[in-house]
Amino acid sequence: MKILKSFIITFLSLGTLTSSAQKTNLQTFTLDKPYTVEKIQAPKGKKVKNVILMIGDGMSLMHIQAAWTVNRGRLWLENAQAVGLSKTPATNRLITDSGSGGTSLASGYKTSYHAVGVDPTGKPLKSLIDYAKEAGKSAGVAVTCRLWDATPCDFLSHNIDRDKEQELLAEMMNSQVDFVFGGGAKFFNKRDDGRDLFKELQKKGYHVSRTFEDLLNNVKSGKVYCVPFDVDTPLPDERGDLLARASLKGIELLNQNKNGFFMMIEGSQLDDYGHFNQLDLLMKETLDFDRTIGKVMQWAARDGETLVVVTADHETGGLTVHGGDLATGTVKANFSSKGHTGTMVPVYAFGPGAENFTGFMDNTDIFWKIKKLLKL
Ligand SMILES: [Zn+2]
Repeated sequence: MKILKSFIITFLSLGTLTSSAQKTNLQTFTLDKPYTVEKIQAPKGKKVKNVILMIGDGMSLMHIQAAWTVNRGRLWLENAQAVGLSKTPATNRLITDSGSGGTSLASGYKTSYHAVGVDPTGKPLKSLIDYAKEAGKSAGVAVTCRLWDATPCDFLSHNIDRDKEQELLAEMMNSQVDFVFGGGAKFFNKRDDGRDLFKELQKKGYHVSRTFEDLLNNVKSGKVYCVPFDVDTPLPDERGDLLARASLKGIELLNQNKNGFFMMIEGSQLDDYGHFNQLDLLMKETLDFDRTIGKVMQWAARDGETLVVVTADHETGGLTVHGGDLATGTVKANFSSKGHTGTMVPVYAFGPGAENFTGFMDNTDIFWKIKKLLKL
């Protein structure tokens, strides 16, 4: 009787705990208009001429589960032929950030928290952009954040401190990158050191586009920086399919090189809405990233020699799905953190070489696999 009584008390208190945990900050999001997803036939060939690395900043399996649920059980991402898991710790912290985590993806080495394109001692590391250029390929970056943010800087700049915003952009001028799309215009030409980085880029032979329309209509070849926004790109509802269009424009330009190209595309602001614990905007960013993945995979399938790798640098927000309805496209979820959390993140691959991205891997392995497949 005593045992039964304590069992009942335990059972009751567990029940209370579970339901109160679920009710804490529980948010609901419904996607009114789901989008169509098509099956993409993967190319048959083995040759890897180009690699497109797509990073969902802060995107875990829960983000994908939630997005999949609200889009009625389908995502473009599901066209991936291979799925693996990436372990993300920094050298000095279990839970990493976009500086350290992104540097491992960009340069193949573990580094310290908040470091960008450097090892823990501050020594600059070469990124896939640098290796691609040295091999005679073209290289580019398209992001929805400010260009001084950690992920683009992991590939284009070097600093032990990701918060050195203006220094990071000045250092970026030394990259041989061919195509850059992102926000952050204000620290190109309103700088404490008085430099005008747009003018410097023009002197180096870059076309500088201050609107997306200029990039789209006036740039047919050559090197380009397109920086249409002072800080980040507008909200997903306002900017529409800008990331997909900018990515495809970048691919069109980079693909003119007969030696092939490397490109990094980031769904940057998933991370922001994870930090802000805003489920609605987080879902819109995740779905925008998925539609961009679809456009990129469709291009890669037509090309036949392009590998697409999709992953994340870390998880943000501790997002947990507690319920929902596939028929109505509704998800109920909450956040357990305003920061990053320590789950492994998924890796997806599509196209020739995709089979290399299964099983457990370190985030650094993703770099080494890409480097090997592109013969850099
Ligand atoms: Zn973050």
